[in-house]
Amino acid sequence: MPDLRLRGGAAVPLYPDFGAEYRPHLSEDLPHAERSLFGKPCCSGCDERLSAAEPTPEAFELRIDLEKAGPITTELVVPAVRCAACGKTQALFDRQLDSDISEALIAAMDGQAIRP
Ligand SMILES: [Zn+2]
Repeated sequence: MPDLRLRGGAAVPLYPDFGAEYRPHLSEDLPHAERSLFGKPCCSGCDERLSAAEPTPEAFELRIDLEKAGPITTELVVPAVRCAACGKTQALFDRQLDSDISEALIAAMDGQAIRP
C-alpha cells in the first residue's frame, strides 16, 4: 500500500469534487516510467529501457495546485526504479499501483490529514 500524505497549510478543504479533481494529478504529476510498444517500462527522461531492477519504495513530493483548494503538498511513497543511464528516479505504474493509490487517497481523506 503506498503511503500518501496531504499537507495544505492548516487543512485541506474538502468539497464534493475534491477527490475527482485531485486524484488524476497523483498519476500525472508523479514522475513515472513510460511503457514501450511492447509494454516494457522505459525511462521518462531519456527513453532508455529500464532494466529489471527490483523497484524500491521511494518518497515523492508533489505540489498540486487546485483552483478551489489551493496548493496542496502531497507526499507519496510508491515503488520506484532509478534509470541506470540518466539517474532519474521514477514510479513504476501498473494497474495494481493505480488502484492502491486510489485506496491510499480515500484513506487519507478519511483520516486526520484533511478534515474540512
Ligand atoms: Zn533515463
